[in-house]
Amino acid sequence: ATPTFYRDTWVEVDLDHIAWNIAQIRKQLPEETAFIAVVKANAYGHGDVQVAAAALEAGASYLAVACLDEALALRDKGITAPILVLGATRPVDVSLAAARGITLTIFQKQWVNDARMHLHDKDRLKVHVKVDTGMGRIGIRSSEELTEIEGLIQADDRLEWEGIYTHFSTADEPDTAYFERQLGLFQEMLGRLTRQPEMIHCSNSAAALRFPKARFNAVRVGLAMYGVTPSDAVKDEAQLPLKEAFSLRTKLIHVKKLPKGEKVGYGATYETEEEEWIGTLPIGYADGWIRRLQGQEVLVDGVRAPIVGRICMDQCMIRLPAQAAVGTTVTLIGHADTSFIPVDEIAEKLETIAYEVLCLIGSRVPRIYK
Ligand code: PLP
Repeated sequence: ATPTFYRDTWVEVDLDHIAWNIAQIRKQLPEETAFIAVVKANAYGHGDVQVAAAALEAGASYLAVACLDEALALRDKGITAPILVLGATRPVDVSLAAARGITLTIFQKQWVNDARMHLHDKDRLKVHVKVDTGMGRIGIRSSEELTEIEGLIQADDRLEWEGIYTHFSTADEPDTAYFERQLGLFQEMLGRLTRQPEMIHCSNSAAALRFPKARFNAVRVGLAMYGVTPSDAVKDEAQLPLKEAFSLRTKLIHVKKLPKGEKVGYGATYETEEEEWIGTLPIGYADGWIRRLQGQEVLVDGVRAPIVGRICMDQCMIRLPAQAAVGTTVTLIGHADTSFIPVDEIAEKLETIAYEVLCLIGSRVPRIYK
């Protein structure tokens, strides 16, 4: 259901685009490859339960989140599909995870020992073992530790070993040497197991789209599902017509004509060069539309207009190409008529990546669904 809100700034999420993207990606994969939809961080800002439901409907069979809280939030909102927590979970919380049917990541032998102390006799906890093949974040780094963990899991009826995985740090880059090294290490680790668990997965969006040999029997896809391609290397090689699902829109709330030489915004840093139409938008850095976006263009009736002066906490000003009516819709990210501001344009302006832009737009901005 669309939330009730009383402001003229909103994120429009196109769930049909998410379903379409999943279909496009799945066409590239063998039929039997499981699609793990990565919905951490409120589904990259798109809305956790809405995206989770749409992804499951479109063929995803598993969800992945960053922390136990995100998994529990999905359960509370009625999602019954399997959910994997990719990050570390506190050992004291494992019984809760088991009770809610949430799959946890084992990333260290000590964690298994600690977790076992907190499991009750009747608990059944699904686990995936994370191998660190070169990301340097969390995961097992030696085959000795893997063997020890295998022993611990097999000796404990409360632990159900369902999967093993790793994560690539350079799958989106043109040079594939480090990716190959990580894949090789992962295969070596798999070779050390006495029994392979049911799910073996290591591919994020970039690897899923670029490297068939890294797909094993499941892929963990985030960014591409939202319609954004992780890098130019992936764009060139995968040639997938993805559709962005995230549009950020607002409305002109105040329009005025200023004479030449008038100042705009905190610090009075902008001065009109001639008679100019200045519009005010009800979005600011408290919404994640941060001050560094000064100068960024937005779309007013499909025409580009720059943000002028400093961005305030809750508002910012633009120089309009011509007089425009209060109430006119302004697009900050997304399509408007035939014009388009892709997430990547904002990422470039901020010298960051699309992932960060999507996560930046705050919870004060309501999400509406198409
Ligand atoms: N797997 C893990 C462990 C991750 O941390 C992430 C996201 O950062 C993903 C998969 C999904 O990556 P992407 O959004 O590039 O598909």
